[in-house]
Amino acid sequence: MQNNPRISKENINRFLCESCGANMGFDAASGGLACPYCGHRQSVAQTGGTITEKDFYTFLRPDSERLQPMAVNAMQVSCETCGATVTFVPPETARNCDFCGGKIVAQPKSADPLVAPEGVLPFSVTAQVASTALKGWINSRWFAPGNLKVLAQPDKVGSVYIPYWTFDAETDSQYTGERGEYYYDTEYFEENGEQKSRQVRHTNWFGKSGAVSRHFDDLYIPATKSLLPEYVKHLSWKFNELVPYEPAYLAGHKAQTYQVSLEEGFELFKQSATEIIYNDVRGDIGGDEQRVHNVNTDYSNITFKHLLLPVYAGAYRYNNKVFQIVVNGRTGEVQGERPYSWLKIGCLTIVIIALLLIILAVFGASR
Ligand SMILES: [Zn+2]
Ligand SMILES: [Zn+2]
Repeated sequence: MQNNPRISKENINRFLCESCGANMGFDAASGGLACPYCGHRQSVAQTGGTITEKDFYTFLRPDSERLQPMAVNAMQVSCETCGATVTFVPPETARNCDFCGGKIVAQPKSADPLVAPEGVLPFSVTAQVASTALKGWINSRWFAPGNLKVLAQPDKVGSVYIPYWTFDAETDSQYTGERGEYYYDTEYFEENGEQKSRQVRHTNWFGKSGAVSRHFDDLYIPATKSLLPEYVKHLSWKFNELVPYEPAYLAGHKAQTYQVSLEEGFELFKQSATEIIYNDVRGDIGGDEQRVHNVNTDYSNITFKHLLLPVYAGAYRYNNKVFQIVVNGRTGEVQGERPYSWLKIGCLTIVIIALLLIILAVFGASR
């Protein structure tokens, strides 16, 4: 088994600034590597070519040679509080967990090999812009506790790539069911001594069996369990803007290790595919109503990709509850939960009552 040519020894040095030797990071503003010290810029060399689909069954066999770390010198660390594992390239570190805000005490170790990412949406929103978006979001929330504002500082949210799977497959499904066709009868009845009629709908059911097939192209399955599902649902991505993964995109950022395995991802894909196939079956049965009794689906030509998608994530504790905030690293859109500060609400209530008392006192005295 050949190693991925993209992950070679030179890749380590590629992150060093040609001009001053410092570590460069992937810069969302320029879309390339930038040196934080001298400002030198470098584009990300595309060494891997195109984004290619991988054969699903080849990767299901327990053959660890097919697995590789995200970069040669990649390190990983796991959060003891929530269990999330992130990969990064030194000198990047992970002191706090971006997902739960917990302190990371474990020492980083060499990154475990995994199914290498195939495609990435690089960060295009800078930490500054994400922070401004977050400030706007917080300021538009009434009664938000003051410590929420701390999160809006650019260094308080981490830039982290979230893992996704995407699957392609051909499906052939045999089904049995029934087609319902409506017909109407005229019914006669008496009302207040008058003879009346009405149309009543009935359904005739006919047995129907058949076959449908479909080509699934890029059904996306989030492979993270660290972000709230409703946030993940609302994260919108332009998948046509994916570029082939290069370790340089990791420089200065973190990437979360997938928490949904390839096999689990495929099961989730089948669940989504089944819903779509049921709709196809209903369309094939036709008529006014359908009953689906049985669908048997064969999957073939199954391929997949592992993708990394960029978010700024942060979490904070308030009254012993963890609140999470996520900013889309491509659009700047903010998803977040916010607590209500009962202290602020209480203070405002007291102010209002005091004002009422003053008004009453003034009016009482003037009488
Ligand atoms: Zn430099
Ligand atoms: Zn955590």
